[in-house]
Amino acid sequence: MSADTAAHQPPPSPEEGLVIRIDSKRCHVEIGDKVLLLSPRGKLFAGKGRIKNPIAVGDRVRVTLDGEGGGSIEEVLPRHSRLARASAGEGKMLQVLVANLDQALVVSSIEEPEFRPHLVDRILAGCEHEDIGAIIVINKVDLGQGCLADERVQKWKTFYEKLGYEVLAVSAETGLGVDVLHDDLADKLTVFCGLSGVGKSSLLNAIQPGLALAVGEVSEKWKEGRHTTTHSSLLRLDNGGHVVDTPGIRNFGLFGLEPREIAPLFVELRPYLSQCRFQDCLHTHEPRCAVKQALEKGDLTQQRYDSYLELLADAEKGRL
Ligand code: GDP
Ligand code: ZN
Repeated sequence: MSADTAAHQPPPSPEEGLVIRIDSKRCHVEIGDKVLLLSPRGKLFAGKGRIKNPIAVGDRVRVTLDGEGGGSIEEVLPRHSRLARASAGEGKMLQVLVANLDQALVVSSIEEPEFRPHLVDRILAGCEHEDIGAIIVINKVDLGQGCLADERVQKWKTFYEKLGYEVLAVSAETGLGVDVLHDDLADKLTVFCGLSGVGKSSLLNAIQPGLALAVGEVSEKWKEGRHTTTHSSLLRLDNGGHVVDTPGIRNFGLFGLEPREIAPLFVELRPYLSQCRFQDCLHTHEPRCAVKQALEKGDLTQQRYDSYLELLADAEKGRL
């Protein structure tokens, strides 16, 4: 557009967009099929209390465009969910990692690295806390075909399905199950979480070739349990979905929780919680505890109960 036609342009019109990435000062905002670099208005930073970042990836924003590819973010629209954590540094500030999440993909592999049910349980608890859907993905099933690992896939699939979760057994390598996964991501904002090395980047590339995430070697890194991924931008899929990789999975969705808030995050415990003798029962040693009784009868599993105890201990030590 040349300078002399600019005067005839209509005034800037308010529009809505989706924040897909944030640099130090500006946001990358997806509007239709364009991505514009826009600056948030200063007023957005006023009076936010404990929230460190008033705009996060996943936020829907109202913008004014200057007609020349630039413009401002006027307002952050109300969020229906958010994934937060305590920000590093002084004071207990809340850092919103992703806004408006619809679901989490809890990605594990059956081997290399081995399936870790306690970590899965922990992330599921985080999803329950944030009220976002969860899909359990067991990747690398090609490694186990026809042998013991294959039985383990079936075992864990049944185990989590019984709790009511959707479980997909997939292979980024052979493409098995990738089409179903692709469909599950349509029109939703999904966070991929899981340890380094389980195949998150490979799955993304299998879903949509060229999604251009560096696929790391299975190195020693997963053995040490480190997680190195720190991406925080939304990737757009051809089916209208968006995905994001999350940094920090150990306390995924678990922030500022009191011990008594832990049990309801384990879906199968819920029906028992009102039946304990003591209202403030933590289901560890208390007499006439309905949870312990159900556990003894075999109506609850030891594995999930152990995951509960692990999370409870963290809450008691103020680690959540
Ligand atoms: P991320 O850290 O979770 O993103 O994991 P990557 O996608 O970087 O994958 C880690 C390693 O596992 C790479 O060497 C991949 O080639 C390998 N890998 C990923 N998916 C599969 C799979 O389905 N089967 C097999 N055999 N290897 C896989
Ligand atoms: Zn109890």
